[in-house]
Amino acid sequence: MEYLLRVGNLIDGRGPEQGPRVVAVKDGRIAFVAKPDEVSDDRPLLDASTYTLIPGLIDCHVHVRTNGEVDRRLQPLTDIPGESTLRGLKNAQADLRSGFTTLRDCGGMEALALRNAVNSGDVLSPRIFAAGYGITATAGHMDQDRYVGARVHDNPGVADSPTEVRRVARSLLKLGVDLIKTNATGGSFGNGHRPNPGAQQMAGEELAAAVDVARMAGKRVASHAMGEAGIRAAVNAGVDSIEHGFWLTPDVAEQMADQGAFLVPTMATLFRNTTRGFAGPGMSDEVKEQLRQRAIWVRERLFESIEYARNAGVKIVAGSDMGGGPYLYHGECATELSQLVEAGLTPMDAIRAATSRAAELLDREDELGSIAEGYRADLVLVEGDPGRDISLLEEGRGVRGVVLDGCPVALTGALDAQGQRAFGDLWGRVQWIVGC
Ligand SMILES: [Zn+2]
Repeated sequence: MEYLLRVGNLIDGRGPEQGPRVVAVKDGRIAFVAKPDEVSDDRPLLDASTYTLIPGLIDCHVHVRTNGEVDRRLQPLTDIPGESTLRGLKNAQADLRSGFTTLRDCGGMEALALRNAVNSGDVLSPRIFAAGYGITATAGHMDQDRYVGARVHDNPGVADSPTEVRRVARSLLKLGVDLIKTNATGGSFGNGHRPNPGAQQMAGEELAAAVDVARMAGKRVASHAMGEAGIRAAVNAGVDSIEHGFWLTPDVAEQMADQGAFLVPTMATLFRNTTRGFAGPGMSDEVKEQLRQRAIWVRERLFESIEYARNAGVKIVAGSDMGGGPYLYHGECATELSQLVEAGLTPMDAIRAATSRAAELLDREDELGSIAEGYRADLVLVEGDPGRDISLLEEGRGVRGVVLDGCPVALTGALDAQGQRAFGDLWGRVQWIVGC
């Protein structure tokens, strides 16, 4: 498929807003970007002159297998095989419709199955980078959360020594994961380590073992790290990204900047925890309110972490943690961008955090996250200018078109008719998910 897309304003994911441009798409890639008066061509033209074009958005921390369900931790005990993977496909499609063309899944075998199906061309979904299951200590984060009762010993991600970590990491590589996810600390809620949120759970040498194995295979390591000691241990071990990073300190932020480590602060989850509150099977109203208050407290601390990271020059990347907790719904990944703006980033910086900088974390900055010649044609048409008003991206509110690998997968309103005229016979090859 070969066509031209004329837009009123281009945000390329790296530089400033560029004004009107024509983007040529050929065989799933961007052939060239030019000013409208520089192009005279008889290829099909989709006229989107009243819209802003941004790169397909990248969310670097989701869990496709779940969608904010209150009983999600019990699902592994009740699902029949395949059920959660099919739910994962539906969740990923909700993200795609809202403008996210790439997802990095930070925990869940379903994402690995989905990635394989996507790469085989079998299903319509955002491209997926999957960690498989996370490595954790016995009773650590991602252990007791998901595996209770009889299955407590079945968690393949549990490792209690550097040697065990090496074995588990190699098992994950054997499954073909794109990255290794480690859990340096507990969560900020519950998990039996109150009043110390995010207490360290994996030792420094265990984290270093994961990094060592991943490096040999050319893969990157993400570390769930909330409390100060665990963040420090993970950074000392050389992980590539700190997920959450709620108790980051100025000195560790400096170290992260020196090492080129990324921060994925998952602000959206704490924002939703404070606005929508908490839930869990059998949870009393009193406990729900306690947890909501805790989220308010932790969120204040996270704003400090982001300030330290910005001052030190740490690369901040968008990751919403959608699916990772109650009331965290797919299709709402862009809440993270609005929250980053709330924390002081400009809207353009927030867009970069979900495009070119996110692509850097994925080690795909040469083909994802930018609108430039040779890049994959993952594109989003927005009504209005998200470079000035980031809230246009929330829940895909201003999103009018999504192009994945050059293929328009979602077009709405006036663009539907324009698209049919512009593409003529090609239109039948456009994959539709609008209205699903
Ligand atoms: Zn998560």
